[in-house]
Amino acid sequence: MKQQAIYGHYLLANQSRSLDAQARCDDEGTIWLSQRSSGEALAHFSASDIKHQPLIAGLPAELVFADGSRFVPDDVNHRWAGSSSGQRLAEWLESHWLGVLVSVVAVPAFLWFMMFHGIPRMAYAGVEMMPRSVDEQVGQQSFKTLEYLYLEPTKLEPDYQQRLNADFAELLKRLNLPAERYQLHFYSSIIGANALALPDGTIIVTDALAKLMEDEPQQLHSILLHEIGHVEHRHGMKQLAQTTATSFLFAMMFGDIEGMGELVIGAGGSLLESSFSRDMEREADAYAHQHATQAGLSAQDFADAMRTLGLPELMLLGEDGHWSDYLSTHPGMGERIRTAEQAAEDENAAQ
Ligand SMILES: [Zn+2]
Repeated sequence: MKQQAIYGHYLLANQSRSLDAQARCDDEGTIWLSQRSSGEALAHFSASDIKHQPLIAGLPAELVFADGSRFVPDDVNHRWAGSSSGQRLAEWLESHWLGVLVSVVAVPAFLWFMMFHGIPRMAYAGVEMMPRSVDEQVGQQSFKTLEYLYLEPTKLEPDYQQRLNADFAELLKRLNLPAERYQLHFYSSIIGANALALPDGTIIVTDALAKLMEDEPQQLHSILLHEIGHVEHRHGMKQLAQTTATSFLFAMMFGDIEGMGELVIGAGGSLLESSFSRDMEREADAYAHQHATQAGLSAQDFADAMRTLGLPELMLLGEDGHWSDYLSTHPGMGERIRTAEQAAEDENAAQ
């Protein structure tokens, strides 16, 4: 069945002459051209011999045929079936749906899988095989970066520093951990009340944190216990391996090999800024809860420490609107307090 006639002009190839003509399209997409007045047949072209001109706003959608002749409809707004951009997109999608599906769904899914499962697993396995001496070198390197960027000499009273160092040594002894693996450092820092654990066993306590908990030493000890947990689980190395491997994946995907160097070097610094993942925090918390009794503490001390940290932080947040300390690097405070208090209840039940 032929569709309604479209009136226009038929222009023969290499001729300036044009004929008043009409075009009808049949179900197969063949175009039948005939004289407008007499109805005399002029030519017909099958769908494969027809090329749509790219649509230009305000100009008629002409058809160009395989022999070079053209049909220009009178109506500038006429659109041939399959010539609107929406329809073309639909047709294009129809023939390319697999490719589209792959790029829209599979590529992000692959990236997501690699970033959250593949890479962490490989990175963790890699770290487990690495000797501890690597942690030491990486730790010292990140310590230098950190010192340069964020740390100022401590202003804590020497007496207080001595007391904390003695407490820390006692803590290690109770946990049966080698004293030479750990070093406690105090620094004044723009990062506020915070504690950090580096891969080599360097634990940094900021002046602000030490002062905040000066009258509640067991709270500070429970935070030290958490930081020890990070070191014992080698979180720093795992984080670093993960960041590096992720950078590597992206560099491979997007071909930015030159940027690689920067990414890998940057990973050392991001060890401190991006901080540990929530899973790592949970693992360090669990370490602290499990060893609380052995360390002469209670999981309740950790819950109290979280509350002590949360309070000034909330006030600080109101002032300058950004999270500068323990809360930002240790997310999910409410959940962590609940978990600690549950652990404390379990301790009591066990006694
Ligand atoms: Zn932590």
